[in-house]
Amino acid sequence: MKAILPGSTVGVLGSGQLGRMFAIAARRMGYRVHTFSPDADTPTGQVADKEYDHEYEDLDAVREFARSVSVVTFEFENVPSAAVEAAAQLAHVRPSGSVLHTTQHRLREKTFLQTHGFPCAPFRHVRTLEDLTGALEAVGLPAVLKTAGFGYDGKGQTRINSNEEAPAAFGALRGQEGVLEAFVDFEREVSVVAARGLDGEFKHYGVVENTHSRHILDLSVAPAYVEERTAREAVRIARAVLEELDVVGVTCVEFFLTREGRLLVNELAPRPHNSGHFTFDANVTSQFEQQLRAVCGLPLGSTELLSPAAMANLLGDLWAEGEPDWRAAAAFPNVKLHLYGKTEARKGRKMGHLTALAATPEEAARAALAARAALMRSPVL
Ligand code: AMP
Repeated sequence: MKAILPGSTVGVLGSGQLGRMFAIAARRMGYRVHTFSPDADTPTGQVADKEYDHEYEDLDAVREFARSVSVVTFEFENVPSAAVEAAAQLAHVRPSGSVLHTTQHRLREKTFLQTHGFPCAPFRHVRTLEDLTGALEAVGLPAVLKTAGFGYDGKGQTRINSNEEAPAAFGALRGQEGVLEAFVDFEREVSVVAARGLDGEFKHYGVVENTHSRHILDLSVAPAYVEERTAREAVRIARAVLEELDVVGVTCVEFFLTREGRLLVNELAPRPHNSGHFTFDANVTSQFEQQLRAVCGLPLGSTELLSPAAMANLLGDLWAEGEPDWRAAAAFPNVKLHLYGKTEARKGRKMGHLTALAATPEEAARAALAARAALMRSPVL
């Protein structure tokens, strides 16, 4: 297994902020970066050496891209499998297409989790309204109906509180396949971001506590306040998931922690994850550098947390009253501003984040939230 060394070119399928931060880490280590997506002047493209803007269905363009790099990785898991297969004929693809195949479809992912004995909320496959009626009986109320494919940040999810709500929820699927899940009355949500090297080496970033707002991650705090036993169990499950999937690279395992102290896996993301953004500023090796090391076949770096940290997302909503007051946020000396180079600030769109470092996780959370509030206090119109 020959390592892909600095000076080589790495390819990223997808061109959002995850690719951008990956590209920053890669360029810092002397790699060149090519990115491929249907768009131009993208968050990743702005820092990459070369940006290919073609549809994923344009397999000739995908081949040209793959020929230009030593390894292809992802920053987004919903890349069509034909594109991944075309790339795999010409370059290493890490993680493999089969990891993507499992995780880009909720039903396949849940079936994988269930088959391998990983704890998750009860679920049923829904193709028809009759399926939904049966599924509601099986998993109980309340429940959440989600589209089986291509959903993220709560898109394509409907909560069902009574049987009467079933037809409307089914209608919201708009003919797509669905998965009905029991609604989990969780105490909190946590995640484990972890990495697996080409030789099977495993490293993790511990347990992070996540708060969502309108189904979108709002705040991550590290380390999470959970019992030692729970933290060990979360890491054990994450490791087993990465090994069972045979991942090369970073993967995030998101969990619900129930009021009874049980961990249920909610979702897998086979790439760096929003709940690991703080590692850019707070850890010896960021999740982005770790992804690079893993896919290039290098030894993994230390995941040591140098300081408790909190990350607050900056959504497009913050721009509603005009450009946020960046100077006000910069007045917080232990807060780092990350912006993704997106020009259009749409509601709910992830535009950037703030990471705060402090003596305790609570203080870090307070600082991140205070800095974000300061962005809005005196908007520059
Ligand atoms: P997802 O896109 O499936 O990760 O869902 C986004 C967010 O919606 C989660 O992080 C939870 O806050 C909430 N959510 C999703 N599924 C459930 C569920 N079965 N029970 C309770 N909350 C859920």
